[in-house]
Amino acid sequence: MGTEIRTDTNNSKLDIKSMTLQELKTEMAAMEEKPFRAAQIYHWLHQKNHGIRSFSQMTDISGALAEKLDQRYYINALSIQRKLVSKIDGTVKYLFGLTDGNCVEAVVMRYKYGNSLCISTQVGCKMGCKFCASTLAGWVRNLTPSEMLDEIYAAQEDTGEKIASLVLMGIGEPLDNYDNVIRFLTILSSPEGQNLSLRHVSLSTCGLVDRIYDLMKLKLGLTLSISLHAPNDEIRRQTMPVSLRYDIDTLLKACRDYFAYTGRRISFEYALIAGVNDSPECARELANRLKGMPCHVNLIPVNPVKERGYRRGSKQNILHFQQMLQHLGINATVRRELGSDINAACGQLRRETEQANCAAAFPTSNQPSKPEGRVHLCSEQ
Ligand code: SAH
Repeated sequence: MGTEIRTDTNNSKLDIKSMTLQELKTEMAAMEEKPFRAAQIYHWLHQKNHGIRSFSQMTDISGALAEKLDQRYYINALSIQRKLVSKIDGTVKYLFGLTDGNCVEAVVMRYKYGNSLCISTQVGCKMGCKFCASTLAGWVRNLTPSEMLDEIYAAQEDTGEKIASLVLMGIGEPLDNYDNVIRFLTILSSPEGQNLSLRHVSLSTCGLVDRIYDLMKLKLGLTLSISLHAPNDEIRRQTMPVSLRYDIDTLLKACRDYFAYTGRRISFEYALIAGVNDSPECARELANRLKGMPCHVNLIPVNPVKERGYRRGSKQNILHFQQMLQHLGINATVRRELGSDINAACGQLRRETEQANCAAAFPTSNQPSKPEGRVHLCSEQ
């Protein structure tokens, strides 16, 4: 698996929570420890995960080994900087603090079948989509596998409930952090870890075609979500710089190939922006493009981001767009809005917090200081 096990820059220790069980076994062999130690440690890190912060908390390993481990490895942990709970539907939004002072967001959404968690994969984003808050201040760095795992572990620990499904739709572009995301998914789905079937995972991308092909070859069984947001290149180029690199025909060919190879139906995200991509002609063109492809279109009334000035159309307009797609044979639903009383659109909480320079000034709180009536964007069909 080609990726780095990031070291803690302060003391050059290795990130043990980002290691697969196999790698941990190799590490133990190099340290002349018995192989079963690897399973014990992995179990503490990925199954018990009661917020374990040090090797001395692992009660079934000796003090001498704990010390040895402590010299070579660190255990990643994140903190809950802010927590907002929706009074309407129980959606929980977290602002997590990372060890280097950066922040990312994650959201727990409650469905009949169980909790779904939306996590971030990068601090900031390079993709530059015009309607998205995550990209306004640019890209800072990739998240490590351990940081992505810790988003899950912290949310589970805080809610006291296991997650049933996962969406990679928070801050960042998962396929721009490909190696770490694959390593994260490998650890997450391992029977000795959380054992979460990747059939319960959706990965959302703005369309990095080369990486879609790489992902396809792994046949992980996850659902691929494509942020399409336009029926043609002309409109897509107005809002999504990635479309200058890969045109829509190339992207949709990759989607068809992905389905043919994996048998997994593609999900398309389409944020409806008034006057930009929501006309009846756009619906017709979109239906034409997707004709014959086993897929689902998720229509999202765009979330206005202060800095951008995009608006959503009327409810009627949105319904009409959906009905047109359906009528033309394309499966389409309008995304249910969750957490409408908490400030929940991806990237906005982090941005506001940073703008106010208030990581320190915001203690963990259950209430937003000022509800903004925004909604969370992630969901599953
Ligand atoms: N980078 C990935 C995943 C993160 S964004 C991607 O592009 O898919 C998660 C989803 O929210 C994407 O579909 C994105 O286009 C959409 N999105 C971002 N800002 C939005 C907004 N203001 N309104 C509606 N959808 C938005």
